[in-house]
Amino acid sequence: MSREARPRRATSAPKGARGNGQPPRGAAPPSLPPAPAADGLPPLRAVIAAHGLSARKALGQNFLLDLNLTDRIARAAGDLTAADVLEVGPGPGGLTRALLARGARRVVAVERDPRCLPALAEIAARWPGRLEVVEGDALDPALDLPARLRPPVRVVANLPYNVGTELLVRWLTPPVWPPFWQSLTLMFQREVAERIVARPAGAAYGRLAVLAQWRCRARTVLTLPPQAFVPPPSVHSAVVHLEALPAPVAPADPAMMERVVAMAFNQRRKMLRSSLRGLAPDIEERLRAAGLDPTQRAEEIPVEGFAALARAVAAD
Ligand code: SAM
Repeated sequence: MSREARPRRATSAPKGARGNGQPPRGAAPPSLPPAPAADGLPPLRAVIAAHGLSARKALGQNFLLDLNLTDRIARAAGDLTAADVLEVGPGPGGLTRALLARGARRVVAVERDPRCLPALAEIAARWPGRLEVVEGDALDPALDLPARLRPPVRVVANLPYNVGTELLVRWLTPPVWPPFWQSLTLMFQREVAERIVARPAGAAYGRLAVLAQWRCRARTVLTLPPQAFVPPPSVHSAVVHLEALPAPVAPADPAMMERVVAMAFNQRRKMLRSSLRGLAPDIEERLRAAGLDPTQRAEEIPVEGFAALARAVAAD
């Protein structure tokens, strides 16, 4: 059954993920007549066939061909009509098309695989002046992506899993706040999404949750089973939406905050007085000054507690 033809897919992860019953990577799923695309462009399956875009594992290529799903992701990003959108990894352009159809003022899409460029050029021709395709590695600072975008900027991406976390951490730790973006709406493997929105005391709570929730409001907006993608990955996925707050939830020097959090979670099972011993000779006093019990562990400390500790360590 073609995903383009489905009226609406179940978007919550089913209890039992398909395991060894998955088709091999790159294998064509059973077919259904494709649904016509609202933008008049060919169905994604036809685009992929016409341009020979067989999925490459090394590039994290798991394509979303269901236009209902790409539209749901575009909608979760909020009002795009007054925003420039940065998309990383447009691939054959399913999400790109949804962003443009949802009225994005402009989309700047960075794609590493040159095979995708002709398909993306067809989308650019359909929406004159609204799609700029940049060929390159989104991790390459020389691309200077912020300079290509006019605020407000919303980042929306079905990220390659191998670069997703690195990009997120970069976007969460800019030298100045607020950052160049207003929101991030990003696909991750489900475990990573859980780590971004996790609350204290849970196993998923860690550095990613603290960095994200210190300066953003973060929530999961969609979960997807492997079968939503072509080819299906081995894991479930989830889309997280992060809205940048105008200022952090509690003040602290960003470099010190990042240092404290990294050290604390590096040895998350240890008491703070041992895991943070290298931070200051009088760490127990500083922990108390921050209102924390030195025998607590990192996973018990809320975001505000880490900010208080970063201030206490930085104080003379
Ligand atoms: N957005 C498309 C979709 O939803 O069907 C494709 C998503 S696929 C998971 C990830 C895409 O990112 C691929 O097109 C891949 O070529 C591209 N990609 C991988 N690494 C990249 C990088 N470092 N910079 C830019 N694009 C990258």
